[in-house]
Order: sequence, then structure tokens, then C-alpha cells
Amino acid sequence: MKRLRILVTGGAGFLGSHLCERLVKQGHDVICLDNFFTGSKKNVEHLMDFKNFELMRHDVTFPVFVEVDQIYNLACPASPVYYQYNAVKTVKTSVMGAINVLGLAKRVRARVLQASTSEVYGDPVVHPQTESYWGNVNPIGIRSCYDEGKRVAETLFYDYHRMNKVDIRIIRIFNTYGPRMHPNDGRVVSNFIVQALQGHDLTIYGNGSQTRSFCYVDDLIEGMVRLMNVEGFIGPVNIGNPSEFTIKELAEMVVQKVANGSKLVFRDLPSDDPKQRKPDIRLAKEKLQWEPTIALEQGLDKTIEYFRNIVSEK
Ligand code: NAD
Ligand code: UDP
Repeated sequence: MKRLRILVTGGAGFLGSHLCERLVKQGHDVICLDNFFTGSKKNVEHLMDFKNFELMRHDVTFPVFVEVDQIYNLACPASPVYYQYNAVKTVKTSVMGAINVLGLAKRVRARVLQASTSEVYGDPVVHPQTESYWGNVNPIGIRSCYDEGKRVAETLFYDYHRMNKVDIRIIRIFNTYGPRMHPNDGRVVSNFIVQALQGHDLTIYGNGSQTRSFCYVDDLIEGMVRLMNVEGFIGPVNIGNPSEFTIKELAEMVVQKVANGSKLVFRDLPSDDPKQRKPDIRLAKEKLQWEPTIALEQGLDKTIEYFRNIVSEK
């Protein structure tokens, strides 16, 4: 295997830390760049002793100058709670971050991968979602800073590709969960597990009939690395687990697994919350020979085990 110099923006976050770990263990020289907004040094502290790992505090809204062969652009808060905290900053992170990594890729002739999202489909009316579907996105709602920011980032990736021949890859990530999600991250899997372990009631937004399709982190990272290294295919490509669950079904599974006496309580549904989401993964199967291997049942067990060690139980 050729040893590459690889930049991972957002490398101290949930997905970024798993990606850095995988690349470091493969022997690549990895630069993890992060402003520690939602990520933390703790997520990568186990990598600090490796000579082929470097941590750089930097904000992607400012240009960065490093000599690398590949760039994974993951920098962006992913939980609605955090991306809505400073919506303008979220847009800047997606848009200026994309311009800065694309400018770098152009200059040093690196291949650059964008971590895009199923949110580009908005509240989808096509189900399951195929890559050819253009989506149903509210441009002025509370999720728009994230959704539209990610859509413009895809536009920029394609325009740099067409105009400057930058070697791009775009992955559309569907809801992914696993160890190293922050306990206060606010996304549904970590919220439910932490609530259950602490013996609190599980907060279902709306009536819980909305659906999501949950992918375990190891499967997602495998798909991402395959896309980065495949020749002749740039995406966008959906990577996610097509097994679809209602949020109420997820809550019931967590309550049953943790068995701590929690009940389900119902809260207001935030505006523009997508009613259904499920990836069509035929393109990933065909182009990357990729499909998920870890079912929600199994992945939840591993994630619950992780949270048991970091949150104090009832
Ligand atoms: P995360 O919030 O754990 O990680 C994001 C990382 O980016 C954090 O370490 C954060 O500190 C860093 N960051 C944020 N703004 C930055 C900035 N301006 N400069 C530098 N670093 C910055 O979220 P995650 O789940 O690991 O998501 C990683 C990427 O994958 C994001 O781009 C997200 O949009 C995308 N994604 C994730 C999911 C998912 O389900 N996990 C789904 C779709 C897309
Ligand atoms: N959700 C919920 N309770 C929570 C957190 C989230 O019912 O404590 C719901 C949320 O309204 C959405 C789904 O779970 O319908 C997934 O939410 P998440 O924030 O994880 O991701 P996204 O909406 O971006 O897919």
C-alpha cells in the first residue's frame, strides 16, 4: 500500500475520529484538523502516540496550507441542536469550508471528498431516496442553514471539478450512530441511550411515526474510504443502512435493551422534521461493492456498551 498524506477536517468529531483511527492504523500520515466546536481532543487522544498522527486546531472558514494527497472534508456540526446554535456560522462552515478545501485540493492536486448528507433531500417525497432525486428542501426554515449549506457545498465541488478538474468525491451520509457520539449531542440515538441509562424517560418528538434508517459507524467509514479510493466514480452516492424504523420503534428497542424502567414521553415536533428517510443503495452496491453489515440490533448493543462506560447510570 502506498503511504499517503491525508487531511481530515472535522477529524476530532464522531465520524472524523473513527476515520482518523482507520487511516492511522493503515499507516498513512494523517493530519486531523478541528476547531473543537462539537468534537474534542478526547476523541483522538488514543491516536496521539502514533508518529503518523498530527492534530491541528484550525477553523475551515479560514484557508489552510498543507501538502497532502487526499482530503476528507467532514468539518460541520451534524446535530440539529448544534447546527442551529449559530446558523450563520453553519452556512459559513459548509460554504467557505468547501471553498477552502477545494482551493487547497486544486493547488496541491489532492483528491477531495465531501461529507454530504441525506438532508440534501429535505423532507423527501420520493421514497426510498435515489441520488437522482433533487429533494424537497425549505430554503428559509430552521434546518436550512445545514441543508442548503451542504447543497451549495455539493455545487461547489462539481463546479471546481468542471472548471478546474479538481478530483472530487461526494458521499451522502444517512443517519449514522455509534461509540464517540457526544452524550449531549442531541441526536436521537445518543439521546435515547443516555436517557435510558440514566433512568429518565425517552423524549419522542411528535408522535414518533417519522422514520429514519440507522447505519453503524464502522459500515459508514468503510463506504467512505471505498469511495475515496475508487477510480472512475465520483458520486454523489448514498451511504446508509436501508433498514427503516419509526422513531417510536427505536425508542422501544432502547427501552427494552437497557431495561431501566424508562417510559416514552412525547414532545413537540420541531419544524421541517423529515417524515421519512431511507437510502436507495443500489449505486453504492454497484460502484463500490458496498453494503452495510451491522444491523441496528447489534449496533445498538455496541453503542449502549460504550455509553455505559461514560455516563453515570441510575
Ligand atoms: P460531529 O459534530 O461529531 O463532527 C463534526 C466535527 O467538525 C467536530 O469535530 C467539530 O468540532 C468540527 N467542526 C465544526 N465546525 C468546524 C469548523 N468551522 N472548522 C473546523 N472544524 C469544525 O458530527 P459527525 O456526525 O461526526 O459528522 C461529520 C460530518 O458528516 C459532518 O460534515 C456531517 O454533516 C456529516 N454527516 C454526518 C451524519 C451522521 O449521521 N453522523 C449524517 C450526514 C452527514
Ligand atoms: N428525535 C426525537 N427525540 C430526540 C431527538 C430526536 O424524537 O430526543 C427525533 C427527531 O425529531 C427526528 C429523529 O428523531 O425525527 C432523528 O433526529 P436526529 O436529530 O437524530 O437527526 P435528523 O433529524 O437530522 O435525521
